[in-house]
Amino acid sequence: MTELELYRSIIHGMHEGVYFVDTHRIITFWNKGAERITGYAAEEVVGHCCAENILMHVDSEGRALCLEGCPLARSIRDECDHRTGRIYLHHKDGHRVPVSVSISPIRDEAGKVIGAVEMFNESPDPTEEQETIETLRDAALLDQLTGLPNRRYLEMNLRSSLGDFDRSRLDFGLLMVDIDFFKKVNDTYGHDVGDQVLKFVASTLGANLRAGDFVGRWGGEEFVVIVRYAGQETLQRVAEKLRRLVASSFLVLQKERVSVTITVGGAVVRAGDDADTLLKRADLKLYEGKQNGRNRVEID
Ligand code: GH3
Ligand code: MG
Ligand code: MG
Repeated sequence: MTELELYRSIIHGMHEGVYFVDTHRIITFWNKGAERITGYAAEEVVGHCCAENILMHVDSEGRALCLEGCPLARSIRDECDHRTGRIYLHHKDGHRVPVSVSISPIRDEAGKVIGAVEMFNESPDPTEEQETIETLRDAALLDQLTGLPNRRYLEMNLRSSLGDFDRSRLDFGLLMVDIDFFKKVNDTYGHDVGDQVLKFVASTLGANLRAGDFVGRWGGEEFVVIVRYAGQETLQRVAEKLRRLVASSFLVLQKERVSVTITVGGAVVRAGDDADTLLKRADLKLYEGKQNGRNRVEID
């Protein structure tokens, strides 16, 4: 493999979208990530001027950036080292994709600007996410320590899942998660480290669910996960994944790593269930998991 081929395959292998434009803003390179995010194949865009507005970048006010204030053109013109921004691009299927972009001029060996590179990736609008978080916090639905939904919010979500199940028999499952020997973490390292452990366990649980699933802090060192469209097998798989991920998470203290395990009890919703009966079945399974040695999953 030549050096050129190597660099080419590195850039194609990147998950992010990457493309180059020359000083006339003609697109000369378009990687696989760009194809994935935009739906446009390289042969549809390479050779075209990005000002032809194929991607029709707009900002949050709806301004068409290709026509009024293309950041690539600015990078080339001002030779500004690096700029970043958030824009919305047009997907070939028609929808708008929110992306964060990062643009840098490209120079030849003599330092003369010969074009620009744009790297972009899908990312939801952080200001909107922040607004959602603030609204939920104002309504006292979030746990202060972990930022996860609290017990009240979990109970609301569970009631609505039970309602959906009654109307349309959409299966779901519930997992009760309890940190093993957590009292020992507090006793050994102090309450503050205990709090940090609670936070990373919460983040590991929260970051590794499918869209639509719901996790909250039930209280103390216990969490509840509502897993949508799940029968026993799916529930088992999701629970096992969370158990493994928590077991391999750790907090780095000066001298050592602090890690914990979880035991998970789960139950799939049945006709006639209310919140109490479902929670009780999951809790019984959790108890069984503790009896059977902890760091385990037991599903009803
Ligand atoms: P098991 O494996 O049987 O679950 O043992 P455990 O030690 O985890 O269970 P136990 O219920 O005896 O202890 C739970 C501990 O969790 C006791 C309590 O001090 C601690 N805890 C509860 N909430 C918090 C919190 O917000 N922060 C900290 N640091 N500790 C908490
Ligand atoms: Mg407990
Ligand atoms: Mg515990």
